[in-house]
Parts: sequence; C-alpha cells; structure tokens
Amino acid sequence: MPAETPGPSVAFHGITKRFREGPPAVADVSLEIAGGCFVALVGTSGSGKSTLLKTINRLVQPTAGHVSIDGEDVTARPLPQLRRGIGYVFQNVGLFPHLTIAENIALPLRIAGDAVGDRVGAMLDLVELPRDIAGRLPAALSGGQRQRIGVARALVANPRLMLMDEPFGALDPVTRDSLGGAVHALHARLGLTTIMVTHDMAEALLLADRVLVMRAGRIVADETPDALLAGAGGDAAQALVAIPRGQAERLAQVKAAR
Ligand code: ADP
Ligand code: MG
Repeated sequence: MPAETPGPSVAFHGITKRFREGPPAVADVSLEIAGGCFVALVGTSGSGKSTLLKTINRLVQPTAGHVSIDGEDVTARPLPQLRRGIGYVFQNVGLFPHLTIAENIALPLRIAGDAVGDRVGAMLDLVELPRDIAGRLPAALSGGQRQRIGVARALVANPRLMLMDEPFGALDPVTRDSLGGAVHALHARLGLTTIMVTHDMAEALLLADRVLVMRAGRIVADETPDALLAGAGGDAAQALVAIPRGQAERLAQVKAAR
C-alpha cells in the first residue's frame, strides 16, 4: 500500500563545506532530488558523501549554500521538528547497549514526548523481526538484526525522508543483500524519499533509482543505474562500475571453465 503522497523533495543549493584550510570536503553542490526517489550517493572514502548527507539533517552546517526540503530551508524550523521528519540510519547503528531493543526503538518517540503505544511491536513487524526480541539487549542480536533495529528506530516517528549512511557496511554479503532488499521494499511501501550513502557501486546499482557519484567534494556523475551500466557518467563513475562488472565477469569465467 504505497502512501498517497510521496516523501518530500530535497534540494542542495550551492553547498560548500570547509572544515579547514585546503580543498573543501564538499564543493559547490547543487541538485534536486524528487520526492519518492531512492538515491544512492557513491564515492570512495573521503569524497564528502557523509558531509553532504549531514547537511540535510543539520549535523553539518554548510560554509556556503543551503538545503531545502519540499522548498523550505532546513533552518526554517526548530531542529527537533526538522529531525523528527527525517529518519537517519548510520553505519555503526548506534544502539544504546544498556537499553533494551524496545527502549532503543522507542527513543525518538520518548525524546519527542510522543506516546509509544504499540509502535515498538509495529516497527518489529515492519523490519520482519519477532516481537519477542523487544526485551533483549542489543548484544544478544546478530549484526544484521541490529541493523534492522537501526532501521526500525529511524522509522518509528513516521518520517517521510530516510537518510542512510553506509547502513550495511559492517555486514556479511548475504545479510547485506537481504537487508538491502528489505529496505528497498520499505522505501516503496511507505512512499519514502530515501538517500543512501554507500561506497559499494553494486549496492547502488541494485537499489537506487538514481546514482550520484562524488569525488573530491563534487558530484561528478548523476545517472540512472541503466545509464551507468551502459557506460555513462564519465571516468570516476565507470571506475566504480568496473568493480562489480569485473567480479561478474570473473565469476562467469569460472563457471565456463568448469
Ligand atoms: P566520506 O563520507 O565520503 O568518506 P566525509 O564526508 O566523511 O567523506 O569526509 C570528507 C572530508 O572531510 C574528509 O577529508 C574528512 O577527513 C573531512 N571531514 C569530515 N568530517 C570532518 C570533521 N568533523 N572535521 C574535520 N574534517 C572532517
Ligand atoms: Mg562517510
């Protein structure tokens, strides 16, 4: 059941972020992401992906430029109100080890002073985990299960925009694959706008509607997966596409040799 209205649009207007002297971490990025889109932001380590992502929920304050969500500047509202509309999943999940799974999931609601009600159970259903793990501590879960809890917590306050920073980075390939599929299904079912940072081009090609490639703080390619697979996007993008393609070709050769 897709939501009637898709998630919000997000626009970067001339975003530059400079942490210190020398080249900026993000250099004059302008682009618009349509509501309901699943965008992957891909690039090698240090290319500025996380910094750009964090300008949306104001974890990073741009040196120049501004970000808007559905046309409204992100600084227009008080921070808690802004963040409430944005789910954020990050690499090391950041579950609180001394809080139970239920307490971790409910945290954004508690911070906002909202009723928890049956939301914990509903979120466990959503991320396809059994409700009876609610009383456990994070240490009693597998890495993939913890990552699902991170997604559940990000979505508990019904945000329409989901930001994910290398959400599957620390997982084994099988778990990574199944969780990627699950996140994509949630994105579609809830009608979210999703922006996912990843260094893995294969993941981007499989999950996203649109792939942005960053290098040295700039967006150097902005293409659909089909276009990238057909050779578009320039050298930096094609160097990243070459990695999964090379793996697929080597696998095909192994198969042919048997
Ligand atoms: P990515 O997510 O693509 O790996 P980041 O956005 O984390 O890249 O970092 C881009 C650049 O900005 C890097 O050179 C990094 O060292 C620098 N950087 C990121 N965050 C900070 C910070 N809080 N203070 C100083 N430098 C930072
Ligand atoms: Mg990063």
